[in-house]
Amino acid sequence: MRHLRSHSLWLILAAIVATSLLPLPAFWIAQLNYIGLFALTTLGLVLLTGVAGLTSFGQAAFVGIGAYTAAWCALNLAWPPLVTLLLGVLITTASAWVIGRITLRLSGHYLPLATIAWGLSLYYLMGNIDALGKYDGLIGLKSLTLLGQEIGQGRGFFAVCWILLWLATAALTLLLDSRPGRAIRALKDGRQMAEAMGVDTFRYKVTVFLISAILASVSGWLLAYYQRAVNPSAFGLKWGIEFLFMAVVGGVNQLWGAWLGAGVVRLLDEQLQTWLPSLLGASGSFEIIIFGVLLVLILKYRPEGLWSWVRQFLGNQQLERTWDLAPPLPQRVKPERGDTVLEIRSVRKSFGGLVAVNDISFQVKAGQIMGLIGPNGAGKSTTFNLITGTLPLTSGEVIFNHHPVHGLHARDIAKLGLMRTFQHVKMISDMSVLENVALGAHTRGSCDVWSSVLRRNRSEESAIMAEAERQIKRVGLGDWVHEQAANLPMGKQRLMEIARALCADPSVLLLDEPAAGLRHAEKRELSQVLRQLQSEGLSILLVEHDMDLVMDVCDRIVVMEFGTYLTEGTPSEVQQDPKVRAAYLGTEH
Ligand code: ADP
Ligand code: MG
Repeated sequence: MRHLRSHSLWLILAAIVATSLLPLPAFWIAQLNYIGLFALTTLGLVLLTGVAGLTSFGQAAFVGIGAYTAAWCALNLAWPPLVTLLLGVLITTASAWVIGRITLRLSGHYLPLATIAWGLSLYYLMGNIDALGKYDGLIGLKSLTLLGQEIGQGRGFFAVCWILLWLATAALTLLLDSRPGRAIRALKDGRQMAEAMGVDTFRYKVTVFLISAILASVSGWLLAYYQRAVNPSAFGLKWGIEFLFMAVVGGVNQLWGAWLGAGVVRLLDEQLQTWLPSLLGASGSFEIIIFGVLLVLILKYRPEGLWSWVRQFLGNQQLERTWDLAPPLPQRVKPERGDTVLEIRSVRKSFGGLVAVNDISFQVKAGQIMGLIGPNGAGKSTTFNLITGTLPLTSGEVIFNHHPVHGLHARDIAKLGLMRTFQHVKMISDMSVLENVALGAHTRGSCDVWSSVLRRNRSEESAIMAEAERQIKRVGLGDWVHEQAANLPMGKQRLMEIARALCADPSVLLLDEPAAGLRHAEKRELSQVLRQLQSEGLSILLVEHDMDLVMDVCDRIVVMEFGTYLTEGTPSEVQQDPKVRAAYLGTEH
């Protein structure tokens, strides 16, 4: 997320203050004021849609809630702006919470459709309430006054609006580089993985929804005092789409893209509205057509938006190294060596008529490396999904550290210290290796959104980063710490997943084909890492196709075929078993 260094942030603030002191023509101040207002809403949309992957067409409705609350309370109760701001934010939070709880569980295209639905409902609600002046709205507000200071519509307003925008952008930048921020960035493409790391993804979805609604509401509050009037046409679906357009033009997952998008769209809108009618010799909203064409072009040729050009110019910036003296994170009490840590009892999974896992039972002892092998489609990955709670089991029991865990959420099982990797690597491609691995330490920290925004998370954050770096070096990825995860070769991505799981300080580690795609030397390194983990008391359940590796590192091996338990024993016992040979070679025994 870091594309600007912290001193650039201060420079931008200085530029805002300087601009507010310059004698700019009123026309340009007005343009900048609108850009600031729109950028504030768009910023929330970038967080919601671009970063967290939750597309919303209904953001304008929250602008409306903020604007109407301010206008009604100022006109009817003569309440001062700071009070109407607070009330607007409260009402927005309450409505967004209710709407979010109901709609955020929807998946795929249902969520955007739902946002259209409630966006329209709020619009018609605003347009049909007598007290809100129906479709005429409310007029006659006094302009903004803060702390006894008349702000007006000019440069004073510019300063207030843009400093608020700057604060919001700085706060979100801090947020996205923190423990809750990494969880939020996992919402778009890595929900299953994040849950397996102990993240309550639904809670973060609601959080992001609330933050973006509040930013929209604050923008609406400003808008009401700026225009000194409100009416529902500014808060309907058209504006909901326009905000989304600004986000896409700027760069839908870039916070600064919101500034750029709002600026470009507003200025273009203004210019086109002046030039197009005289150019075409007819009046009409021709700019809409140009916007449509522009949107298609951007989506086709620059889907990351205009900010990506600025980013190329700035380069990707590493996190500052601040964790050299970090205190260690708390560690789990590990089971006694030889104790049964994981017991699978008659576990079964049917997918319709297919029984993928057919009453499998086995045990893993603390400090043991247990192999789980079998031909493709034998049900190994499914068994992993059942143990870790990624899939609900049809019947059977999973006992972890003497506690039954079947029926628990994946994230709750993860919190107990059962960690896994995935056969198909799951990662956040645009995060660095360091940040991906740090996600594994989610359950070992506790800093929330507020402490991250207020920078009270510094010591926990450096402890997490230090731990992540330690685990990355442990699996031999020391040279790749700051690389973007997507740039790693496949084999190294698997090692990164192991480091991420280790970052949680697990007592049992489930590895699904960790050696696939590794070179010979890397495989040797991997078996060394596995042995070292074992010597430290960790228990490992290993699914792997590389038989040399399996026979080399495993203490015991369970063999599955077509979902059923075939046999179990030491590597040499299993190797000599005719049933196993038959299963692998496909011959009759
Ligand atoms: P392995 O990891 O041993 O290669 P899997 O556990 O991935 O095998 O798959 C076992 C069987 O279950 C396969 O026949 C596979 O097609 C089926 N299967 C796995 N996941 C699902 C699913 N979500 N829905 C339906 N069938 C599935
Ligand atoms: Mg598999």
